[in-house]
Amino acid sequence: MDSVPLKHLSQIRGPLHTDQEPDNFSARLGLYCFDSGTPLTAGTWHAARSGADCALSAAAAVLAGDRVAFALTRPPGHHAGAGYFGGYCFVNNAAVAAQHLRDQGLDRVAVLDVDYHHGNGTQSIFYDRADVFFASIHGDPRTEYPFYLGHADERGAGAGLGANLNLPLARGTDYAAWSQALEEGLRAVTDYGAQALVLSLGVDTFAQDPISGFKLHSEDFLRMGERIAKAGLPTAIVFEGGYAVEAVGVNVANVLQAFA
Ligand SMILES: [Zn+2]
Repeated sequence: MDSVPLKHLSQIRGPLHTDQEPDNFSARLGLYCFDSGTPLTAGTWHAARSGADCALSAAAAVLAGDRVAFALTRPPGHHAGAGYFGGYCFVNNAAVAAQHLRDQGLDRVAVLDVDYHHGNGTQSIFYDRADVFFASIHGDPRTEYPFYLGHADERGAGAGLGANLNLPLARGTDYAAWSQALEEGLRAVTDYGAQALVLSLGVDTFAQDPISGFKLHSEDFLRMGERIAKAGLPTAIVFEGGYAVEAVGVNVANVLQAFA
């Protein structure tokens, strides 16, 4: 580990002394992870790499002319940054898809993150870049995971100033209020002039989700999909969170149905 890409994590950690790597293995591992809920096991890399490949395939399908492609990935990715993992995420699948769209010739790509939790990894990866716009609608980080990023005043830095939009909402938000944030996010994506969209689709905004706090119902995901499809952008959808296991399928299918 002679090059240590810890810029963003050390920023999050503030006063901790992260430029001195400890000899202890667990402590070294901790330099690259921002929570205690994301274990590495024997199959982790294979699964994470396969998820990223799946997102790449979705981006490639969109580049080849498909109106929409869905990357059904596990693990999710939007909490993973360039130099750290966490939040059940190891490789940022949405960022991989967005970067592929850029590498293949699109000048302006937008990522819209509708997972209940702020896409802190995606934000940090593109925070100082103007070529990828990031918008996120999520639970207010004052009370909701991942806590340390996702505030409304985080608007990007340097060349990326203005290319980051956070729309935090209070616990208990229903679709009527949530959809107003969606309007604002999509308006910003349109104003930015995005040529393609990567949608970080978490369905943990569902009212019965066991770890989240919004109040969306299954039929709201139909309306969400219809509104996002109406933006008219080629769209690579990447699956993020969703923990009401028996309802995840129908909620995701409702979003997808609007595009079909
Ligand atoms: Zn989530």
